[in-house]
Amino acid sequence: MKITIDALEAYLFDRYNEWANEQSLFMKLVEEIGEVAEVLNKRAGRKSTDETDLQEQLGTELVDMIHYIVAIAAINNIDLERIMIEKDKKASVKYNHPINLETFLSTRENNNY
Ligand SMILES: [Mg+2]
Repeated sequence: MKITIDALEAYLFDRYNEWANEQSLFMKLVEEIGEVAEVLNKRAGRKSTDETDLQEQLGTELVDMIHYIVAIAAINNIDLERIMIEKDKKASVKYNHPINLETFLSTRENNNY
């Protein structure tokens, strides 16, 4: 199953729009950023750990970050997909990238990968 940012925004809008606000969601995001930092510190040996699967834990904490980032966008009716494409297009020109996200996605879609 593929998850689109659009679909995730719709899902999180339904979950949070009635009662959450951007400040509380942002505070949760900052907490999750700290949890990512903790996993990275464990992976680098700067913090001890009994956990064996730090790769899975890193994935879990990154997902938590995405959750709150997309939730903040959702309750503000921000079209993240559109902005991501536009921003990448500008960055690709500025930094002279050989391909931009929009072209990459079109190519990928046309070649079914
Ligand atoms: Mg977490």
